[in-house]
This record gives sequence, structure tokens and C-alpha cells, in this order.
Amino acid sequence: MSPAAEHDGPIAPGLYLVATPIGNLEDITLRALRILRSVDRIACEDTRQTQKLLNHFGIATPTVSYHLHNEGPRAEELLAQLKQGARIAVVSDAGTPGIADPGHEIATAAIAAGIEVFPVPGANAAINALIASGLSTESFTFHGFLPAKEGQRKTALEQLPRDNATHIFYEAPHRILDTLADLEAVFGATQPAVIARELTKLHEEFLRGTVAELRAQLASRATVRGEIVLLFSPTPKQTAPMTQSIAAEVAALMQSESLSEKDALKRVARERGIGKSEAYRELQREQNRKR
Ligand code: SAM
Repeated sequence: MSPAAEHDGPIAPGLYLVATPIGNLEDITLRALRILRSVDRIACEDTRQTQKLLNHFGIATPTVSYHLHNEGPRAEELLAQLKQGARIAVVSDAGTPGIADPGHEIATAAIAAGIEVFPVPGANAAINALIASGLSTESFTFHGFLPAKEGQRKTALEQLPRDNATHIFYEAPHRILDTLADLEAVFGATQPAVIARELTKLHEEFLRGTVAELRAQLASRATVRGEIVLLFSPTPKQTAPMTQSIAAEVAALMQSESLSEKDALKRVARERGIGKSEAYRELQREQNRKR
């Protein structure tokens, strides 16, 4: 049994990556509480946020801030203490450290320095959204947050493989409608998707349906609030019937899904497995033939 798995006595020196709840405080584990009580200090993404958790469970371990803006220099400081045999826990504001949160840098630095790194498992929004989504859990990819800028976001979506694997994204409530609009432009209005909102909290909600249905549902609300995970599994590329011209396909998409000509052409290109410029040249050839 490794030192980290012992139940009594002092814990082994090293770095402990401790998951904390993503909403429901009951999701802290017994082991996480024991580790947080036993370490020499807790490196927190936000000391005030973690202090609330520690107060709730009556834990008096000293804290130190460790966030994206001081990750480098603070990691060095913590590493120096770890090398002297300290026991240090890293926690983020919520969920699993290192997953769209600080933690990775110090973990890799500790490993490189030959220091033991112990995961202390617990809550994570992506995995819990996935297991209750109803989408395939056999193969999935977690992408973190999509780019905030529309152009970059669409490009990121366009580059996703269509292989039936489930894609998981974190998304901010003020961006979810724009992201769904991009999802619709890239994968079509009938693409099934799932929104997991406020997991483990009072207003936990799963919305399952086509992208168009989810958009309509959220758009009908006065505001969209809370924390969100977006999931979908794009179906494999259909070989487009070559009997139809590109111009006809583009026109049909513009009419049926209210896409711009540019977005419709992009979709046709993707579905035919050809590049955008190739599709554009073919469209022009078709138009020239008609003249
Ligand atoms: N490290 C965390 C984890 O393990 O899930 C994620 C941290 S990331 C900075 C925060 C994002 O995770 C939120 O914007 C949201 O997309 C997602 N998230 C966190 N808690 C959530 C919850 N209770 N319900 C739905 N999504 C959540």
C-alpha cells in the first residue's frame, strides 16, 4: 500500500492534488478532508474561496495563493519547500485541480524534481456531465473552454473530428447562445447536444435535444445563468450525393437552415470532404457553366 493510502498517522511528504466540490459540499471526500487537515499548507487558486470550504469543515491548515498569474514563481517557492520534505496540497476554486484550472505546472515541476505527486480524486464537471448526458462515454475528448472570439470558435468547431466520440466543452453562460449558433452553423440544426448546467447544485439541469431546440429553449429565458458544460457527438461525415450541384446544396441549406452563403458553402465542403476553396472554385465553375 502506498504511503498516500494509509489511513492513520502522518501523511507522506509530497504534492497532493485535491479535488473539491463543484457546488454540493457533500461531494468532498473523507480522504480529501484528512489530507487538507494533515498537509503543511494548502496552495489555493483563491484563498478566500477555499477558506469558506475550510471553515465549513473546521480545517485550520495555512493557505497560500496559487493561481494562473503567479503559477510560475509560486510553483518554484512551493517546490523548494517540497524538496525539503513538505506536504503541500493544491486545490482550485472548485473541482479537480489542473483541469481548466491551475495545478498542471506544479505537478510537472514536482515530477521532474523527483517529488511524489498524489491525486486525491473527487468532483469534476466534465466527467459528471458526461456520465449523465446520455451521449457515448466510450470515447470522449475534453476541450476546456472554446475560444471567446467567434471566428476562432468556429474554426475550432470545424476542426473537430466527426467520429462519434463525445466532445466536452466548458462554456460561460453569457456565451452559450453564440456558441450554440456556431455549433448550428458548423454541424447543422439537427445535431444532438446536451447542456449540463449547475451540476450538483440546487438548480441542476440537463437540457437534451437538437442544437436548434437547445438554442430556442435558452433564448426564451430572460437570462442564462450558472455554470455550463456543453457536450455533443458529431456523426460521421455523410458522403454527399454527387447528383446534386454544390450551388443547389448551398441554396437548400440557406433556405432550410437560414445559413449565410459562406456558412452553407463551408458545410457543403465539409460534408463532401473537400476544402473550402475547392468547393468555392467548383461553385464558380457551376455558375460559369450556366451562363
Ligand atoms: N476544475 C474544474 C473541474 O474539475 O470541473 C473546472 C474549472 S473551470 C475554471 C470552471 C468551468 O467548469 C465552469 O465555467 C463550467 O463550464 C464548468 N463547471 C464548473 N462547475 C460546474 C457545475 N457545477 N456545473 C456545470 N459546469 C460546471
